[in-house]
Amino acid sequence: MCKTTSRPYPTAGRADARGQTHRDEHHDGDHPDGERIEQIARTMPERGELTAFALVAGLILIALLVKII
Ligand SMILES: [Zn+2]
Repeated sequence: MCKTTSRPYPTAGRADARGQTHRDEHHDGDHPDGERIEQIARTMPERGELTAFALVAGLILIALLVKII
């Protein structure tokens, strides 16, 4: 029995497409018993991640402004 767990995909469609590719490559297109697509809860970015994003966005904005001026 296949015990593969894939990485998360942003949409069920992409997860299903990846599953089909895996089935075609490793299981001759058959569905392994118990195969399923699970939805995982989305989490908000943590404060440190938001700070890092704001910093990088700010630096990019400054770089663009410096280049324009
Ligand atoms: Zn498999």
